[in-house]
Amino acid sequence: MEVLDKILEDVKKRNPHEEEFHQAVEEVLKSLKPVLKRHPEYINSGMLERFLEPERQIMFRVPWIDDEGKSRVNRGFRVQFNSAIGPYKGGLRFHPSVYLGIIKFLGFEQILKNSLTGLPIGGGKGGSDFDPKGKSDNEIMKFCQSFMNELYRHIGKDVDIPAGDIGVGAREIGYLYGQFKRIKNAYEPGVLTGKGISYGGSLARKEATGFGLVYFVNEMLKEHNYNLKDKKIIISGSGNVAIYAAKKVSEFGAKVVAMCDSAGYIFDENGLDIDIIKEIKEVKRARIKTYLDYKKDAKYVDNQREIWTINCDIALPCATQNDITIKEAKLLVENNVFAIGEGANMPCTNEALDYFLENNILVAPAKAANAGGVATSALEMVQNSIRMSWSFEEVDEKLKEIMVKIFKDAKEAAEEYGVEGNYVAGANIAGFKKIAIAMMSQGVV
Ligand code: NDP
Repeated sequence: MEVLDKILEDVKKRNPHEEEFHQAVEEVLKSLKPVLKRHPEYINSGMLERFLEPERQIMFRVPWIDDEGKSRVNRGFRVQFNSAIGPYKGGLRFHPSVYLGIIKFLGFEQILKNSLTGLPIGGGKGGSDFDPKGKSDNEIMKFCQSFMNELYRHIGKDVDIPAGDIGVGAREIGYLYGQFKRIKNAYEPGVLTGKGISYGGSLARKEATGFGLVYFVNEMLKEHNYNLKDKKIIISGSGNVAIYAAKKVSEFGAKVVAMCDSAGYIFDENGLDIDIIKEIKEVKRARIKTYLDYKKDAKYVDNQREIWTINCDIALPCATQNDITIKEAKLLVENNVFAIGEGANMPCTNEALDYFLENNILVAPAKAANAGGVATSALEMVQNSIRMSWSFEEVDEKLKEIMVKIFKDAKEAAEEYGVEGNYVAGANIAGFKKIAIAMMSQGVV
């Protein structure tokens, strides 16, 4: 469709040098072609162009003092992308690679992901180019407090509800919440999710993204008469998403043979011990290489990207964006992978995704497959509103139901629009339809 090429070209012109954002938009527009053919009013009304423009993007200075007493400065971001179906919701990422283009791609994807959960949450994302690696607890706290000194003006339980992402876990959310409470002089736990259990957090939130990914992948495999039992799995990353995906696939009888951090990967043909990785990463905050201190037979390779050279049945990229390019995609297919489950956001380049689909590899796309985290965040908000806490089992059961429903919606949308079995397109279409109807009903806002 020529008009879509023109819209994409405009997005690139209006948002120069934001490659990740362009990539995310391109992937979605490609999927939406059949929807837009059936609903030309989405284009003619200008709705599609509004959908691609964030409602608001905030950039701010984050000054803080390090342990040597030296003044430091970082850049903070919050992109409030779309509130058609609910208040902005999306995590905060602290990583040196963060710039506006990354926050915008994440915020854009979050709109569709949040829509897919079936819960009333809009899309947003935020973060900073602050690097938490090598910082003391005190420095992390100072940074989080300074970040919140600006962010608090823009968030609220009915306005915008941040959560964690890369570099932001329970510790950071705790510091952020403490400062928010101090500034506001009010106890409003619904303003942030991913909180500690003792002050309004939800059981199973920590596990939710990884568990949800596996629930989704399991549904997809069932649909094609496969299962997880005895399958050989590679997981990139060893953070929040990777660890709980690893735990859950192991419960389903699969074997995780390799995991990594940004420095390198560990490999054990007989399967990794996930509890050891959990201890290394969650308790010691050490490098994955430390695994060798526990298991002498494991192998460590000082190059994270080479993890994809290993033979496996299923690959779960759970680290960061563009982890699998066409080169790694070709290697994986050559090595007989049959399914990909995207735990990270946009872990495969568009070229890699196309290659997988052309080769009939099953792909569980990030927007759908990792939506369990934000869905459980929304359940945390519900518990905060009703001032009650549900048990781990209750939350996990709801999470499972949500993931099964997301799979069903993506599958049915793909069928309805003639791309059966393409869950990448199905997820984009299913997520978009609800947003489109809401935006069309709300006029030019
Ligand atoms: P964590 O910070 O807990 O872990 C990130 C992991 O990925 C670490 O092992 C990290 O290694 C590795 N990593 C980060 N950046 C790079 C890089 N540039 N190259 C190689 N490895 C890298 O983050 P999460 O587990 O929370 O997030 C992982 C992914 O999942 C992200 O894409 C995030 O957006 C997505 N996601 C997270 C959700 C959540 O609930 N947490 C929800 C939905 C999606 P190292 O420690 O060496 O930096």
